[in-house]
This record gives sequence, C-alpha cells and structure tokens, in this order.
Amino acid sequence: MNKLKRWILVLLMVCTPTVYALEIKGHLVQGGWVQLKLEPLSKVDFGGRQLQADTEGLLLIAFARNEASTKTLTVINPSGKTQTHRLNIAQREYVVQHIDGLPPKHVTPDEATLAKIREDNRKAAEARKINVRTPFFLQGFEWPAEGWITGIYGSQRILNGHARNPHLGVDIAAPVGTPIYAPSAGKVTLVEPMELAGNTIFVDHGYGLRSDFMHLEKMYVKVGDLVEKGQLIATMGATGRATGSHLHWGMSWFDVRIDPASVFNLDRSLVRGAQVLQGKLVYEDQQAKR
Ligand SMILES: [Zn+2]
Repeated sequence: MNKLKRWILVLLMVCTPTVYALEIKGHLVQGGWVQLKLEPLSKVDFGGRQLQADTEGLLLIAFARNEASTKTLTVINPSGKTQTHRLNIAQREYVVQHIDGLPPKHVTPDEATLAKIREDNRKAAEARKINVRTPFFLQGFEWPAEGWITGIYGSQRILNGHARNPHLGVDIAAPVGTPIYAPSAGKVTLVEPMELAGNTIFVDHGYGLRSDFMHLEKMYVKVGDLVEKGQLIATMGATGRATGSHLHWGMSWFDVRIDPASVFNLDRSLVRGAQVLQGKLVYEDQQAKR
C-alpha cells in the first residue's frame, strides 16, 4: 500500500463515526431503574439532573413512585452532538395500608422529637448525595433477610387513622436478632441511630444506587467499610417507629426512592404475605399448608 492510500485509510477510520444507539437494560416503570449504555463519557441531562457515563458508557437512571408517563433524556456525546430521547414510563397502582396502635409521639411528634427527626433527615440527605463511582451493583442482588413480606413499596399509609407519606420500601418481618446481609456489594455511607428509622445503615451500591436498612437491632459495620454481597451487616430489630421486629429495606437512586423489588427479575408483583425462605421468594399460594 502506498503512503497516500495508507493516509486515506487512517483518515477514514478516524472520521467514521461509531453509531451509539441508546441501549437500555431494565424496565421503564415507576419505582424502577435501568442501566444505560451510551458512548463512553457522554453527558446526560435527565429531568434536570446532570450525569456522566463512565469510560465503558455505563450510567444508571431511575424513576420515582409518581414519575410522569413520559420523561426526557438528553445525551450529549463527547464531541458535543446532542440527542433527545423520550422515555415512556409504565404507571403503577398502589395499595392502601392501615397501621394502628403506633405510639402517638411517632404519629404526631412533639417539638423535641421533630428537631431530632430534622437532624436525622439532614444526615441522611448528605449521605444520599454521595456518588460512589464503583459499579458494585453489577454483582446483582439477593434478599437481605429471611422472613415475611409485611410491607411493599408505594402503598399509601394511614397511621392511627391519619394519611401519611407512602411507604417507600419493602418490609420483611422476622424475630429480633434475625441476621441481615448486604444484598449486593457496596460501601457503607451511614450508620446512625435515628428517631423514626431506628438504627439505620446505608450501603451504596455505586452510581447513585443505595440500600437503606432500618429498625435494626445490632449494627456490625461502620461508615467507609466495603461490604461483600451476602456479608452479615446487622440484626433485625424494632428500633424507631416500628410496631414489631422487622427490616425496612429501602432503595434509592440519589434522592429518588425506588422499589427494592426492582433489583429482582420477579415474574409476579411483590405482595404482603409472601415469604423470603432460603433466599427465594415464596408467594402465599405456593406456601406449604400448615
Ligand atoms: Zn417499612
């Protein structure tokens, strides 16, 4: 090949743009999250939030409980080319759950209790801003505890007859002392005794995705610890605003509360009365008659 031809070939290789279609892994649904595959280091504007894909082009986005049915995703590739995508977000229906018999101080808190709640919220909000740039979540997820599902994501809660914020997590009930394991690898970003949430641990799974574990009895990790998937991190308890021993497992993408059930590829919606047994979810109609 002569010199001129070789140069033309090199020029062609440099100038041929690689076409990056928007690749989405996961379900576009309220309370869900998806992995995006973009041109490496692309910048993204998603509902006013600025994000950047990693050197492999990987990025996560998530959808709130009441996310609108369409959402705009703007992708700016490293050469400055902008593409806008319209995402259709599947809408869900949520159940109503009544909970009675809570101590009045936790339903209508007094001033001192409110001050502690505000301080807890401030600390939690700080931890929710952390952007751990290790994709721990790629290891996948398993259930953090064995027990009965007593609360699901999104349900409208009526506490002692008063409408309150929806329940934004999954509750798993079992006796005090039941072990709680990290559902995936991650970095511990908060360990705190809180007024409503009780003893609380945050484990960051990377790229904004985080698990919150509440109402714990004992806590075996400290801020900054790296935990492995399946590592014992705490035991179940009834600390904070709880009517009995259970784990509240919440998940967020930054400050967007998402459905922990979205980390599993469930072929049926999670319902109260199902049981986590030997790491598997067993629905009521599959449970042995007793
Ligand atoms: Zn809960």
